[in-house]
Amino acid sequence: MTDAQSRSLLAEAARLIPGGVNSPVRAFGAVGGTPRFLARGSGSRVWDVDGNEYVDCVGSWGPLILGHARPEVVEAACEAARLGTTFGAPTEGEVLLARAITKAIPSIESVRLVNSGTEAVMSAIRLARAYTERTKVVKFEGAYHGHSDGLLARAGSGLATLGLPTCPGVPPPWTAETVVVPYNDPDAVETVFGSLGEEIACVLAEPVAGNMGVVPPAEGFLDSLRTASEKAGALLVFDEVITGFRVHAGGAQAAYGVTPDLTILGKILGGGFPIGAFGGRRDIMDMLAPSGPVYQAGTLSGNPVACAAGLATLRLLESETPHGMLERRTGRLADGLRKAARDAGVSVWVNRVASMLTLFFTDQIVSNYATAATSDLKRYARFFHGMLARGVYLPPSQFEAIFVSATHSDEDVGFICEAAQAALGEIASPQGQPC
Ligand SMILES: *Cc1c(COP(=O)(O)O)cnc(C)c1O
Repeated sequence: MTDAQSRSLLAEAARLIPGGVNSPVRAFGAVGGTPRFLARGSGSRVWDVDGNEYVDCVGSWGPLILGHARPEVVEAACEAARLGTTFGAPTEGEVLLARAITKAIPSIESVRLVNSGTEAVMSAIRLARAYTERTKVVKFEGAYHGHSDGLLARAGSGLATLGLPTCPGVPPPWTAETVVVPYNDPDAVETVFGSLGEEIACVLAEPVAGNMGVVPPAEGFLDSLRTASEKAGALLVFDEVITGFRVHAGGAQAAYGVTPDLTILGKILGGGFPIGAFGGRRDIMDMLAPSGPVYQAGTLSGNPVACAAGLATLRLLESETPHGMLERRTGRLADGLRKAARDAGVSVWVNRVASMLTLFFTDQIVSNYATAATSDLKRYARFFHGMLARGVYLPPSQFEAIFVSATHSDEDVGFICEAAQAALGEIASPQGQPC
């Protein structure tokens, strides 16, 4: 397997683009080696510029639940583009997509479309602050909600203390309104509400964590967030950018039976095009301009091509109902990976929810960021490269999810498990090649 073309493109890209990539994790920084420049995708497969074929387990980080280049989605996007790619005026497609969203997720009575998950989260927080006339946001350690300043925060020295910036360029006052608590820890949430209750505008949570690797909510955890926020007069905001339309047709809120006040969507919603959305209770959403005073805008918001691709995706999900099949197939993948690790004598912990999963190289049960962080990252890097060499494209970081699409066949799952058997065998053997 050669990577000569990828290497040569990376050399030029690195001169023109910081780090050679337009989003950091693509650079293979956590696993080493040369990121593959991808040329083409179809169904469950991608091909790089050197012509290597891979079973893709990244799915563009979540959007591609129907696989790459699903013909109906591509056709819908092309048809929309032929009629004009953007108008900066209302279009019918926005109404159709909003109708599809509110039908799939009934807690969303009214919805605003934006261009990315990051933008949707920023805007939802502004709205939550305006509605509650409070400032503080509770988020969870290891959760990701896009790259806006206030959310690039880590916990201060104790619970209920000011968040500290995790990134140069973010002034400490920008994160001081963010309170960071451990995921799956209702007592920590209660403590924070106990000391800051009156100041908390919202609790912002991934209902299934997907950005510390996959971590399911513990029994009753989401309910505890609902109860605590309601009692304190704060809003509950679910960031369903990954989980929306993936863990259930109605999102994680349907799967777990917990209703947030506001929901954030992205990824699958755009059918592979840039999009984000936030929506929820009408009385809250009505505070947005132009019906209310909270400013929010976007030149390309509700873009006709993204709306058409998103609508085609939601319609296919509705007519084909792939979630049961995805559940079973991803379950088999999780079992296959556990068995491969057992056979190889390598300690792993596999978390899976619906069609998202992570294989952690740890002997601990992974239930939050601290336990995810016990993973052996060198082992993950060797596993990643062992799989890549065998034609399986995994996320180039331990702390990301494998996404299975409706186009991943039983044969694909078998192929991934066989590759894992061999790659994990290499890791276990002391003669294994360092990567
Ligand atoms: C990807 C992601 C975002 C950010 O979405 P972008 O479109 O990349 O800005 C926000 N929240 C969650 C949970 C995500 O996984």
